[in-house]
Amino acid sequence: MTARIRQFLRKRAEDGPCLVVDLDVVRENYLAFAKALPDTKVFYAVKANPAPEVLALLAALGSSFDAASVTEIEMVLAAGAPADRISFGNTIKKERDVARAYALGVRLYAVDCTAEVDKIARAAPGARVFCRILSDCVGAEWPLSRKFGCEPAMAADVLEHAHRRGLEAYGVSFHVGSQQRNPHAWDRALASAAAVFRECGERGLNLTMVNLGGGFPTKYLKNVPTVKTYGSSIFRALRRHFGNRIPETIIEPGRGMVGNAGVIEAEVVLVSKKSENDDVRWVYLDIGKFGGLAETMDESIRYPIRTPHDGDELAPCVLAGPTCDSADVMYEREPYALPISLEIGDKVLIEGTGAYTATYSSVAFNGFRPLKTYHI
Ligand SMILES: *Cc1c(COP(=O)(O)O)cnc(C)c1O
Repeated sequence: MTARIRQFLRKRAEDGPCLVVDLDVVRENYLAFAKALPDTKVFYAVKANPAPEVLALLAALGSSFDAASVTEIEMVLAAGAPADRISFGNTIKKERDVARAYALGVRLYAVDCTAEVDKIARAAPGARVFCRILSDCVGAEWPLSRKFGCEPAMAADVLEHAHRRGLEAYGVSFHVGSQQRNPHAWDRALASAAAVFRECGERGLNLTMVNLGGGFPTKYLKNVPTVKTYGSSIFRALRRHFGNRIPETIIEPGRGMVGNAGVIEAEVVLVSKKSENDDVRWVYLDIGKFGGLAETMDESIRYPIRTPHDGDELAPCVLAGPTCDSADVMYEREPYALPISLEIGDKVLIEGTGAYTATYSSVAFNGFRPLKTYHI
């Protein structure tokens, strides 16, 4: 929570939940990444928060961008960044979209198999490709599973295939899992990346780039290490696995760039019990899983919640959203402690909500409009 957001909310008269993002915090985060990893290029992961104001600010600061669709590419171009600062980082692309991205000037693409390489060879001749390898995501609160990337042992084949098809086999990428609270998580992935570099080298292919992905955390309920700690841990891992031949590197922070810049203001719609002697109360807010809090799925992300009664005695609550879908419950398995004095009509502040909220909100499920956002 910043003074600017507090002041903005004090003046807001409109009804309904809203997200307020302080662009000064985004600027500070960008500068912290640039300082912590001075030889690394920053490619902001657009999906975390694609608001035009965020993209324009980062474009002006010199950031590059990781886009996952043609629409995201167009949004970045509209924000003033040239196409040579855009990576089409989704490993799952239609060939038509590769062709559209190529026509827009994008020359850097992610792949994780030979079929995707073939699409790029046809639709984006001569482009640079990097091969994404799987990572176990241990230590991440929002792991990314096996959906993206191939086994490291297959990566050299994919890159060699790209080279044969006239593409530039540029390097390797991975993602250690989102909200990665362990700064040493990059070590093992970098060991695998270095092995791919060696294998490619033996085949006469000299790779030049390692894409270190995202994963940099934002502070929710628990403290997280600083960006500086991540930077030095990553640098030591690069030295350990690449010696004096440290490759070009890029990072793709999403959550770590915008998460702590945003606060959602919501309202308590109902506080109730399921029976007279129930110890756990149900607290229903005017925002839920379909209104922007999708990352509470499986109770993965636990947001800090401020109330007007902080400091009063706490009691466990089930926290739920306003829609008529029974899946619209944020915290139940592990109830959330909120003040006993919390009442219907109280405004609550959900902190750390600058990433992965507004664009996850549904169009009008049950008639609840998408999350209103302000970037100040
Ligand atoms: C989502 C995504 C990111 C951003 O991840 P964070 O954990 O939010 O930093 C980076 N790279 C790729 C390829 C992604 O899909």
